[in-house]
Amino acid sequence: MQPLEAVKAARKMLSQVTPLKRDCGRYCGGACCEPDEDGQGGMLLFPGEETLYQQLPEGFTLMQDDAVFPDALLLSCEGYCERDMRPLSCMLFPLLPTRSGVVMDRRGWAVCPLMESGVNGLQKEFVDAVKQAGDILYACPETAAFLDAIHAYNLQLQSL
Ligand code: SF4
Ligand code: SF4
Repeated sequence: MQPLEAVKAARKMLSQVTPLKRDCGRYCGGACCEPDEDGQGGMLLFPGEETLYQQLPEGFTLMQDDAVFPDALLLSCEGYCERDMRPLSCMLFPLLPTRSGVVMDRRGWAVCPLMESGVNGLQKEFVDAVKQAGDILYACPETAAFLDAIHAYNLQLQSL
């Protein structure tokens, strides 16, 4: 499977589910969308996903960011987006698929109140959708390598 195909299938899998039954942003004021001190927020795009952002909506920028994965692109936003423009990384948050299931994304400890309750505190439909999206993403070498790089980066975060 090509990366764009895998990303589109994973996005579709997650298009109708959210971490909680209610809008979890109500609990935290949408902390994971909150711009940082430079006025920017955002997430890394999966390989191939940039094809879906050739026409950037107002308030979005795309820049190279090699911190986690070579030649990765960071989609920066101003803290709001339409659901169909939401990058896959944002749809998966605060979970990350692994090769055998899901884990909480350790980058979430900085912002997300759902980290405390862990995977079992999240809506089952969301957890299942992330698992299924993970099966698709790990079937594609490029998106699998990207996920592996995020897990490696998160392990480094833990050891800091
Ligand atoms: S920080 Fe966590 S609780 Fe808040 S909107 Fe993001 S995923 Fe939901
Ligand atoms: S792209 Fe959308 S979902 Fe992701 S951080 Fe920005 S506003 Fe939030």
